[in-house]
Amino acid sequence: MIDPFGRSVSYLRVSVTDRCDLRCVYCMAEDMSFLPKSDVLSLEELERLCTAFVRKGVRRIRLTGGEPLVRRNIMTLIANIGELVKAGAMDELTLTTNGTQLSKYAEGLASAGIRRINVSLDTLDADKFAAVTRWGKLDQVLEGIMAAKQAGLAIKINTVALKGVNDGEYDRLVEWCGRHGFDLCLIETMPMGEVHSDRMEQYLPLSQIRESLSRNWTLTDSDYRTGGPARYVQVAQTGRRVGFITPMTHNFCESCNRVRITCTGTLYMCLGQDDAVDLRAPLRGSEGDEALGRAIDDAIAKKPKGHDFVIERGGVPAVGRHMSVTGG
Ligand code: SAM
Ligand code: SF4
Repeated sequence: MIDPFGRSVSYLRVSVTDRCDLRCVYCMAEDMSFLPKSDVLSLEELERLCTAFVRKGVRRIRLTGGEPLVRRNIMTLIANIGELVKAGAMDELTLTTNGTQLSKYAEGLASAGIRRINVSLDTLDADKFAAVTRWGKLDQVLEGIMAAKQAGLAIKINTVALKGVNDGEYDRLVEWCGRHGFDLCLIETMPMGEVHSDRMEQYLPLSQIRESLSRNWTLTDSDYRTGGPARYVQVAQTGRRVGFITPMTHNFCESCNRVRITCTGTLYMCLGQDDAVDLRAPLRGSEGDEALGRAIDDAIAKKPKGHDFVIERGGVPAVGRHMSVTGG
């Protein structure tokens, strides 16, 4: 699949649920209303959709949410997509998770053929963790992360940079990740969805963090790429990488290789734009995948050139939907 700007689309992110067992302050409002079940694709429909994309040339799929591991019977979908990897039809299946259910599922993920996962963790301080997630338990997540390590999964920790919450903790996170053999990826907050807090107050440019890290760590620019927007440095002292995702200060759209699908089957061609195509109707409308295939082709032909996030719009989100709709 080649879009109008010559970019090859080979990466699909699938939000398997809009629900979550946490309510991170930058991601969701406390009183979120979730979708009725009938709007949400069944696991069989999600699998059909993923398979259709793989037939069109998608080589990597990342499951996300909401929290993917709170969806009932999610391991069935994971095992079935994992079979596509084992059969060589695609290169990789990965997962972004908040880690709360990892103690239970780490072994199963590894046997399904998942080799690496991203775990979101914004702080190593239990009180701050409870505050930023509104009710999460840090210990539960740390146990989950260690279970994943034990199961042999490579782990990348995703940390959203939040002024007044985790500024002051980045050295500790670099050290902790280094000690456990994890990569770390720092993310700027993006203005997505109403969360009833002022994002300008939370926003912290990563250039500042990089500068302060370089006082204590030897950072060397790395040309390592995962096909994603992160730019990496190598940390000499730990031998691990630290990535920076800076949508607000750096435009990463020129190399974008991805599209995102929500749990209702809406395809978003850009994280920062409202352009979307409904794939649920063609999916449910016929048993064959012809109409679905045509709808996918039409969507790729409309992939926008890039996003235009601006955080200073007087508190109005640049896009109205929450990150949990498309899963980041
Ligand atoms: N629940 C899973 C998790 O937390 O990893 C997967 C979904 S979550 C929406 C995916 C990623 O998006 C997380 O790393 C989260 O920190 C990040 N995220 C959510 N809202 C964001 C925002 N407004 N700006 C930047 N990152 C955000
Ligand atoms: Fe849930 Fe992930 Fe959003 Fe936090 S960032 S509320 S864990 S979906």
